[in-house]
Order: sequence, then C-alpha cells, then structure tokens
Amino acid sequence: MSKQPHVRRRYWNEPSMGWWERAYVFEVGRGLGITGGVFLRNMWKWITGRKGALTTYYPEEKRADYAPANRGKHLLTQRPDGRPQCVACNMCATVCPAQCIEIDAAFDPDDASHPKYPARFEIDYSRCVFCGLCVEACPEDAIRMAPETPDLPGFDRDRMWVGRDELLSWNPQRDVAKPYPVARDAGPPR
Ligand code: SF4
Ligand code: SF4
Repeated sequence: MSKQPHVRRRYWNEPSMGWWERAYVFEVGRGLGITGGVFLRNMWKWITGRKGALTTYYPEEKRADYAPANRGKHLLTQRPDGRPQCVACNMCATVCPAQCIEIDAAFDPDDASHPKYPARFEIDYSRCVFCGLCVEACPEDAIRMAPETPDLPGFDRDRMWVGRDELLSWNPQRDVAKPYPVARDAGPPR
C-alpha cells in the first residue's frame, strides 16, 4: 500500500489579495491616510478645547466604563457582629495563581463556633490578575469581588498591598446579589 503524503491542516484563512494589495504601496498610503486622519481629527478637537482621543488622562480622569466582565475588587464579608466571616483556611491563598494573598491565622478560644480567624489578610494588587479563583475556592463566602473598582493604581508597589481592615470596610452598593447581614454589634473588628 502506497503511503499517503502528509498534509498539514491549516487553521487559518489564507489571505486573498488583489493586484491593489499586492502592489503594497497603495495600501501603505491608505493606512497612513487613516492614521493621519484620526491624528488630525483628535488634534483639532484638542486645539478647540474638546476631548479627542479616547485616552484616559489618569489620575485627573478616571474611567467609569469598565467592561461588564470586570470582576472588580475584593471585599471580605462580615459576620453580624462585624468580625470577618473568614476562617483563615488558606484555600484562597493556595489556589491564587499569582500567589498574592497572605494570611496569618490566629486562634480565639472564646469563640467556640469560629475559633480560627485571620489576624492578617492582605492582597497584593500589584500582582493580582483578578481571576476570581479565590472567590470560587472560599468555602465560607468570606471573600467576594464587586465590580465597583476603586482607585487601585499607585506609584509605590508597597502601597498596593490592601489589608484586612480595608477589605472588611469596603462595602460597595453594587454587591446586591449577596447582601451583607445587618450588623447588630459592629464594634471594632478583631
Ligand atoms: S483574583 Fe485571582 S490573582 Fe487575584 S487574589 Fe484572587 S485568586 Fe489571586
Ligand atoms: S477568605 Fe475564604 S478561602 Fe480565604 S482563608 Fe478565608 S475562609 Fe479560607
């Protein structure tokens, strides 16, 4: 039996070019015309005091039009007395692909139903990729993400660590799917 020649499968569409594209120089001129037109239009808007390009001039301007798929920033949920729902099991830190969650667990012998709690819970937003795996992994619904994205960027990497108290106190109004329990005795968190 004769061996069939190996034919590689093609996973892309072969471009079909007419003589216009093959001549190359016309398409280069067309591309320069499109780019130059956008540049001049934006420049004219800028000269006449209007906003031209879609660039956001951070930090003077802040975006509000994040994509619907934006997961946003983390928050730690609270028990009715204001203490963290988190039981410091470390599952979120274990699953995190960026290894940007650090937790120091502590023990409270007086709280029989919830003896383990996070004395320190920090997320490094300079490394977080906002994948949401920490939220998926949590067995206690203790960490969520809400699409309201506060001012995350910073000029100093050390300032991009967000700690337990900040994660506990951020209570975005758009987290309505799973509302917070009403705090009965919201004393200072442990
Ligand atoms: S969103 Fe992803 S990268 Fe960010 S802390 Fe959670 S698991 Fe880690
Ligand atoms: S947030 Fe959830 S997964 Fe992470 S340590 Fe706390 S209880 Fe465990």
